[in-house]
Amino acid sequence: MSTDYDVIIVGGGPTGLAAAVYTGRSLLRTLVLEKQVPGGQIALSAAIDNYPGFADGITGYDFAEAFLKHAKRFGAEVLVGTGANSIIRNDDGFFTVGLSDGRDLTAKSVILAMGRHPRKLEVPGYEKLFGRGVSVCATCDGAFFRDVPVAVVGGGNSAVEEGHFLTRYASEIFSIHRRDHFTAQKILIEEYLHQPKVKPVWNSVVEAIHGEKEVEGIRIRDLKSDQVQEFPVKAVFVLIGWIPNSELVRELVDLDDQGRVLVNELMETKVPGLFAAGDLCVRPIYQLANVVADGVQAAVSVEKYLEGKK
Ligand code: NAP
Repeated sequence: MSTDYDVIIVGGGPTGLAAAVYTGRSLLRTLVLEKQVPGGQIALSAAIDNYPGFADGITGYDFAEAFLKHAKRFGAEVLVGTGANSIIRNDDGFFTVGLSDGRDLTAKSVILAMGRHPRKLEVPGYEKLFGRGVSVCATCDGAFFRDVPVAVVGGGNSAVEEGHFLTRYASEIFSIHRRDHFTAQKILIEEYLHQPKVKPVWNSVVEAIHGEKEVEGIRIRDLKSDQVQEFPVKAVFVLIGWIPNSELVRELVDLDDQGRVLVNELMETKVPGLFAAGDLCVRPIYQLANVVADGVQAAVSVEKYLEGKK
């Protein structure tokens, strides 16, 4: 039986597009589904400084554009604004992917590269003021908060990097973390704490975000002294980790206790013909370079899988 595509790649971030470069180059009929922006989260990054080979850094937007162009050059079709609503493995071993535009398309194999989304802060005011001072992307929203105090929540690489970015605009950055030290890379922490605008607030959690139409302040609790303090910030950047976008395949593949897809070193899931790669999966590190490499591995595995089926 023939299928619409040899491979459908769900997700057009760096992992999915890297896979598409390789499957396209191998002359596999390739479709990439990207429900939001090509390049995914990375497209929103102000600067990428740690991708080997780009000595002067590159903006997330330029990086994403280059990836997209590269994938298309080798023949991959990229559907932007269209996601996958369902994935079914049929009795013949092929897949039917239900698209958000209502169509069903078939493929001999599927690569899952849906990535992950930011974790929410479960406090009063978060939902109500989201987009009105509450943000999960300093790169996107930081410029709206010039010369005013802001807060950053979290202590990992994202919080420290994005907090650093905010020093361009904000008057003060209250960097709130529930531990007494950040867990980001040492070099990032050093650069961050060196900035006079950055005021770390250790052992503390945000209890509430105040404001009617926009953020007017936050209530912080010190976990050691149990003291409560009010900070008159105009924005709260919440950078407290990520949740994998694995809902779609919950019934199909094995997940770990955080909802990340379990794959082997060939990016195979337990379902033959179904591969997963990048941020969606359990990986030793979550760096751009290695999630790109994951996409490449998944593509090569698809190629070998389809060879074996001939
Ligand atoms: P992360 O490393 O998982 O850090 C999450 C941070 O949020 C931790 O400080 C955590 O505190 C805190 N946190 C979690 N839940 C919280 C809650 N409910 N309330 C308050 N604080 C909470 O996440 P990430 O910083 O987004 O990084 C994710 C991955 O991307 C990492 O592997 C990271 O290395 C990578 N990354 C790399 C770069 C880079 O290399 N340039 C940049 C960004 C991200 P605890 O430690 O106490 O749990």
